[in-house]
Amino acid sequence: MNQRGRLAPTPTGFLHVGHAYTFGIAAERAAGKLILRVEDLDATRCNPQFTTATIEDLRWLGLSWTEGPDGEGDHGPYFQSQRSDFYLQAWQRLAQQKNIYPSPQSRRDLETAAFAPHVSDEGESVFPKNYRPNEWVVPEHPGRVPWRFRVPDGKTIQFVDKNFGLVQRVAGTDFGDFVVWRRDNLAAYELAVVVDDYHMEIGEVVRGKDLLTSTARQLLLYEALGWKSPDFFHTNLVLDCNGERLAKRSHGMTIRELRRQGVAPEKVRNCSVEGLRIGRHDSPRPNK
Ligand code: GLU
Repeated sequence: MNQRGRLAPTPTGFLHVGHAYTFGIAAERAAGKLILRVEDLDATRCNPQFTTATIEDLRWLGLSWTEGPDGEGDHGPYFQSQRSDFYLQAWQRLAQQKNIYPSPQSRRDLETAAFAPHVSDEGESVFPKNYRPNEWVVPEHPGRVPWRFRVPDGKTIQFVDKNFGLVQRVAGTDFGDFVVWRRDNLAAYELAVVVDDYHMEIGEVVRGKDLLTSTARQLLLYEALGWKSPDFFHTNLVLDCNGERLAKRSHGMTIRELRRQGVAPEKVRNCSVEGLRIGRHDSPRPNK
């Protein structure tokens, strides 16, 4: 508790009650030391209108953030779209260490591969090891090719989540080599989030439990970059009356719709909204 925390929305739609629930917990646990980071790297999917709406919704929920990129008095937010130099530095380091490799295969190549990719317990296609190159030259810039992190096959990555306890994932089985740099020359989510959480000195990352496997991937990046990782608190997911998790398309459950209906901000934060419940047994797979 009481560590520096962050809210990290991606402005691809209106925030829904699931975000309100997670962000409310993040704000409480951070006890005032909170950063707002808008994850707007992908300009084709993100929209400034959603950024404005997100900030307005967060304020309506009663959340405030304390720090921005321009020093004292600036309350932010930070925008990932303005931080590519940080990501590039990390890319260079990983590339020089040969922790990452260029991986030109397209999704279509993978679909039509002669060998069927292994599918993890969570239903994720694990990138086939056959596509790892033996030799490659490290360029100065990523170029127009995706780069993947080479995972240590068979290694168990474990961490103690502050909400769920011990979590374990096996590299190469539960997830494969993952993209850190995209074909469109942008840092991928896993790399950008690690670089930012490190540079912003985040003490505890609060986010939905759907990202538990991502956390295992990110721990490999912290290790490769020689950085101490933050603590993690994953939140339960908010489910609709059919037990399905809410998505950005769950229009009826956006914060602004609930606000229009006159639901109070605390109720939205606590998720005391008719037809919704907090998922307790919704894990797509048990933690091994
Ligand atoms: N922008 C990410 C999302 O909205 C944040 C994930 C995280 O908290 O690391 O899913």
